[in-house]
Order: sequence, then structure tokens, then C-alpha cells
Amino acid sequence: MRTVGIHTLGCKVNTYESEYVVNELKKAGYEIKDFDDICDVYIINTCTVTNNSDSKSKKMIRQAIHKNPNACIVAMGCFIAANPDYQEDGLDILIGNKDKARIVEILEEYFKKKQIMNLQYKGRLKEFEDMYITDFPGRTRAFVKIQDGCDNFCSYCIIPFVRGKCRSKEEEKVIEEIKDLVKNGYKEVVLTGIHTGSYGNDLETSFADLLKKLVEIKGLERLRISSIEATELNEDVLEVLRNSNVLVNHLHIPIQAGSNEILKAMNRKYDLDDFKNKIKEIQSIRKDIAISTDVIVGFPGETEELFQETINTCREIGFSKLHVFPYSERKGTASSRMENKIDNHEKKERAKRLIEVSKELETNYMKKFVGEEVEVLIEEEKDGYSYGHTGNYLYVKIKGSYPHNELIKVKIKEVKYPYCMA
Ligand code: SF4
Repeated sequence: MRTVGIHTLGCKVNTYESEYVVNELKKAGYEIKDFDDICDVYIINTCTVTNNSDSKSKKMIRQAIHKNPNACIVAMGCFIAANPDYQEDGLDILIGNKDKARIVEILEEYFKKKQIMNLQYKGRLKEFEDMYITDFPGRTRAFVKIQDGCDNFCSYCIIPFVRGKCRSKEEEKVIEEIKDLVKNGYKEVVLTGIHTGSYGNDLETSFADLLKKLVEIKGLERLRISSIEATELNEDVLEVLRNSNVLVNHLHIPIQAGSNEILKAMNRKYDLDDFKNKIKEIQSIRKDIAISTDVIVGFPGETEELFQETINTCREIGFSKLHVFPYSERKGTASSRMENKIDNHEKKERAKRLIEVSKELETNYMKKFVGEEVEVLIEEEKDGYSYGHTGNYLYVKIKGSYPHNELIKVKIKEVKYPYCMA
């Protein structure tokens, strides 16, 4: 039996795809081992979102080659798709963002011929590559990739070039996958994609239509959207939010910057007024909804005043959490050619300041629920306490032992950051 070690970099979509690769390899009789072990095959599912992701991807490829020079080394994903000329002595198979699903067939061919295989795709990807996962061992939440690609071309992002055009998984297939996950005991499903809210633009359906069908699946308790752009929260999507409690009380809506000047330079598709009005509309439907966001700090041209505007905007909107990213240069993007770059020390300082703002906002949001009864999906038990998240993503620490994957109702007594104590 051949052994495989797999290492995944980057986002949730990559994680989903690696999980699929692992399942396929297991079905074909491969033994999955730790990446640190000596294996017959190493797979590195790479990332290229920043220059740093490129360096990490290359480092992991070299590490695998060094660990066992006789092993078959496979590098796949965004870094490979972005660098068609990349080669490394000892690297045997190169796969971009197409053909990951064919991994078993590709390995079989490799072991027959023992020749370097370069399966890179030229041009922008157009077809959705189907994958199907019905089990996520050890996890309470299941993920379903419903969409791939992006047509937005934000000025700092290379993803539209390496992941291709927006494309969607057929509706029937999404529904079947989620029904199977529910049959396997999953109560919560997270819809993922590179640009999830654009689902359906290439099919005769829409994201809202898909959501309407998914919330009707018997036994599905929670449906979460990993991330959605403000511009995609249209009236039809908001109607689902209004009518179904299966769609959780949490949305992750990336704002990226809190000033119009930087939003424009980022080529984002909204201005501050659009964004704030959308949030108000959402809050008029669900008063206590958690709205988390992503913010990039230190974008070229971000003065101290503009950064301060971002802080003010985040406080004004009252996000439930900020995911803070210091701007990281990516070769080949429009922003990498911009002037007025912010030095690394300043970027780090701003990131630190904004993380403090996030803690303050998180605590404010959590405090709203003291004295309230909430429903928690139990994820783990440790030292006499059980831990889990609510639909609106409060992290709850509960005295006592409760079964994994059960939904239980508890009253929040106090906030001890990062937990709500029950
Ligand atoms: S929406 Fe913007 S940031 Fe997100 S993947 Fe597309 S181009 Fe990148």
C-alpha cells in the first residue's frame, strides 16, 4: 500500500479540495500519513494570495523533496497556476486549479511511466470541477464548495487570474451533497467558494434560489455562508434571511477598507454609503445579527487619517469581529505597481491597533447576550468544560460535559474574552 502525506496552504476552498483528494486516495487504497512522515507520495496544495504564500508554497515543496528524494512529489493549486514556468529538481507532477479531482488517475499514470507530468492549463478556467464530500472526520461543521473563480479584479488580488471565471456547481448536486452530509449526522453546513455570492450567475439559477431550496432540507439545522460581498446581498437573498432561521444569524461581509479613497484604489464595487445602507437593511431584518468582516491595513496611499477613518467606520458599523490583514504585496497585481507604499513596521503597527479595536467590538457584541438563552453546537470537551459556537458565532464555554455534535440550550452568564461563559 502506497503512503501519502498532504500539506494544504491558503483558504477554505483549498482545504475542501484537499479533503476531497484525501477521500479519493483513501478509496483507491492509499494510506494517508502525516506530512512529516516518510511517504511514497507528497502532495502540496499551494496558495499564491501574497508573495509570502508563494514563499511558503515553495518551502513546503522543497521540504517534501528533501524528506524523501525517491517519493513522487505533487504540487497543485494557485501557486502552480500562477507560475507556469516553475520547476524544481525532484518535483514530479504539477497541477494548477484544474484536474485536482483526477488525482488518483494522474498518480496511476505517473507510476506507470515515471515521467514528469505538467498538467497546467493555459487561459482562464471556465468549467466547474465537481467534487463531492460526505464526511469530514473529526469536524462538527461540514463544508460544501458551491462556486469557484472570481470576475471582480480587486486591484490587490491575483485570484481572478489563477482561479478563473466565476462558475458554479449544479444546484441538484449541491442539494444531494448536503442531504448526504445531513444523513451522516452533520447539523451545520458552510457554503464556500472563492466568490460564493456570485453563485448561479453562469447557471439558470441564483444564489437566493439555491438558499431557498437548501433551508428546506430536512434535518439541516444550520446553514452558514462563509463569506458574501455586500453587493450580492440583494432583495432575494435578504428575503431568505427574513424567512428562514436555518440561515444562521451571522454574515461575513468583507469591507476591506473604511474610506472611499482606499475602496476606490482597491477597485471594490461599492462605496461607504452603499455598504452602510446594506448593513442597516440587514439589521432591520435581524436586529442582533453578527456581522464580521475582513480589513486590509496599510494599502498603498493609506495615510494615518485614512486609517483612522477605517477605525471610525468599523466602530460605527459595529462589526462583531474584524479579520485584519496587513497589506501584502502580490507581484502581477495592479496595487503592486502603485505609489506611496506603507512601510512594513507601520503596517504591523496599524494591524495591531485594529486588532485591539476588533477585541473591543467582539466584547461589545458578546455582552449583548449576557442573560440570554442561546443554542450551542458542541465541538469539544476539555477539563470539565464543553465548547461550541452559536449560530451567530459566539464561542461558548459551558461548565460540564455535553455530547459532541449535540445542540444544547444554555444561558450566558458573563463574558470572559474570547468566551461567553455559561
Ligand atoms: S472579490 Fe476581490 S478579493 Fe475577493 S477573490 Fe475576487 S478579486 Fe480577490
